[in-house]
Amino acid sequence: MRVLAISDIIVETLYSPAVREIARDAEMVISCGDLPSAYLEYIVTMLDKPLYYVMGNHGARGGAREQPEGCVNLDERVVNHNGLLLAGLEGSMRYNDAPRYQYTERAMRLKIFRLARKLWLNRLRYGRYLDVLVAHSPPFGIHDGADSAHRGFKTFLNFIDRYHPDYLLHGHIHLYDNRATRQAVRGHTLIVNVYGYKLLELAAQAR
Ligand SMILES: [Zn+2]
Repeated sequence: MRVLAISDIIVETLYSPAVREIARDAEMVISCGDLPSAYLEYIVTMLDKPLYYVMGNHGARGGAREQPEGCVNLDERVVNHNGLLLAGLEGSMRYNDAPRYQYTERAMRLKIFRLARKLWLNRLRYGRYLDVLVAHSPPFGIHDGADSAHRGFKTFLNFIDRYHPDYLLHGHIHLYDNRATRQAVRGHTLIVNVYGYKLLELAAQAR
């Protein structure tokens, strides 16, 4: 299933009618956060495909409206989109005293605990927990930064080892060089830094 994934920065060609050409085969859009609501709403309107998102640590950056209209917030939720099982975890590591969309390891563990019941229901229904985890932050030690604002979550490593999604899509880590590493593998999970945008071919896999 072809998916347009977006994150962190506005890409001008996507913020124009050219988005229809770029994403012509995409069945859905996934946003990994830190994007203005107006940008998400533009893309969802132009493509007329479902858009699933999580908030980044900056919330709906630059937008008066916090929640983008016509889009589906995935945080602590699971969605079955034509057989592809998605789940979401918003936000980043807590790094200051304005903690909206910022979480300590412990707080993120609690979020995963609340999500886990829904993952188990997936497992009962479909024989697997999920296919794609949509997050804003990366896991600890994978694409993350040394500073507290950009450190990844250790609890995401546990998540991968326990629920083994095929994909973990994240943003938050800005790339200033096209050759920078955007993909990593842990176990059966492909971890992708979406920063900007990426067209992905995601497969629903029964295990
Ligand atoms: Zn961020």
